[in-house]
Amino acid sequence: MLEISMSGLERAIECTASLVLQQSPTQGAWASYGHVVHAFLQRVPTMGREAALAAAPKEHQEALESIDVDAMQTLNADGFAYEVAIALDLDRMTARELGRGISRDEAYRLKRPGELVGTLDVLGTTSDAVIVIDYKSGFRDLGPVRENWQLRGYALLAATLYGKRKAVVGIIRPGALEPYFDSAELGDIDLDVVEDALTELRTRYGHMASHSEPTRLPTRQGRWCTFCPAFPFCPAKRALVTMGFHAASPMIDEESAAMALSNLELLEEATRKVRAALEEYAVAHPVPLPNGWVYGVKVTARKSIDVPKARNILEAELGPEVRAAIVAEERLSQADLKRLVMKRVRDMPKGERPAVSTEVRRILDRLEQARALEVKKVQTVTRHKPSPWAIPAETEGEAGEAAPE
Ligand code: SF4
Repeated sequence: MLEISMSGLERAIECTASLVLQQSPTQGAWASYGHVVHAFLQRVPTMGREAALAAAPKEHQEALESIDVDAMQTLNADGFAYEVAIALDLDRMTARELGRGISRDEAYRLKRPGELVGTLDVLGTTSDAVIVIDYKSGFRDLGPVRENWQLRGYALLAATLYGKRKAVVGIIRPGALEPYFDSAELGDIDLDVVEDALTELRTRYGHMASHSEPTRLPTRQGRWCTFCPAFPFCPAKRALVTMGFHAASPMIDEESAAMALSNLELLEEATRKVRAALEEYAVAHPVPLPNGWVYGVKVTARKSIDVPKARNILEAELGPEVRAAIVAEERLSQADLKRLVMKRVRDMPKGERPAVSTEVRRILDRLEQARALEVKKVQTVTRHKPSPWAIPAETEGEAGEAAPE
C-alpha cells in the first residue's frame, strides 16, 4: 500500500524506487534545525516572536533570533488555520480533516488504509479558492512554487476538502539576508494534473513493490536525493561512492565511506591541478562556450565601507547603538551594512518601517558622496556572459600602455 508523506512527494514521483528500496531514516543536524525553524515560524503568528523564541530549544535560539520575521510576508493570524492535517481518499476523491495542531505521528495514526495524509502549515479559504502556505528552512534551491510537488499535493488535499477548484499556494522561507516568498495560483487543470500524477504513482508503486530485486529498479537522481531514506541502499549512489573500490560494498557503511573519502581526496587533488591549469590557460586565451558564454577573466567591483570615514554617517543613520558593532572594524562589507539596517528597521514601530533594500541603497549613496566607500576590483576566472559594459581585466602590460608593434 502506498504510504507517502507530501514532503516526500517529489521524490516519490521522480524516483518511485526510493519507496521500495530498503529504508534507513536519518536525522541530520540540518534536518533537525529545519524542524526547529519550521515550528518557530508556525508559532510566530499566533504567539508572537518573543514567546515563539522562548519556546524553541536553547541551542537554536541565537540562530532563530537572526530571522527577520517582521520583514517576511506576514499573515493575519485570525484568518488562517495552522497545522491542519488532512487525509485524501484517492479512489473516492474525498478528503477529511484529521485535526489541527496534532503531531505528524498522530495524523498517521488517524488515517485509514489507502488514504494519503498531509499536514498543512497554514490553510485559509476564500469564496472560490483555498490558500495553502508552507514554511521552509535551509538554503536549497526550491524551484518555482508552481512546480513544487509538496505544495501541489497540499493544494489538492485542501481543495478537495473544501470543494474548491482553485488554490493559491505559497512558500515562506527566512533567508540569511533576504526572506523568500513565492506564490502561485493553481486552477482546475493543475489540480487534475496532481490527481493524475498521484494515481499514476500509486500504480507504478504497485508494480515496483512486487519486484523481487528492488536494487535492479530504475532510480532517478536529483535534488530530491538529499534526505532520501533509501540513500544508503540506493544502487545509483552506491555505484558513485564505490567508484574506485577494489571490492564492491553491499551498502554504504563506515568502512566503505572512509575508503571512498580517501579515493575522492586523491581525485579532488588531481581535479584541482587540472582546474588550475585550465584557469592559467583561460587568462590569456578566453574559451568560447555554447550560448555566447565564455570561460575567462571576469572583473567585478566589490564595495566595502571605510569605517573611520563612515563612522559619523553610520551613527547618524543607524543610531548610536551601532557604535558597539563597528568599534573594532576597519572595513564593513555591504552584507554587514544590510544586517545593521535590518536590525535598525526591526526596532522601528510597525507601519513606519522602510524597505531594507531601499535604506541600504540610500545609505550607500550617502557614503559614496562622502568618499567613505572603497571599491576593489576582483578578477576571477569563471564562466560568464561577456558584457560590453564589463570592467576590463588587467593585462600584463600597464594600463594605457601601447601594444608592441
Ligand atoms: S538516493 Fe537513490 S533512491 Fe533515493 S531518490 Fe536518489 S536516486 Fe532515488
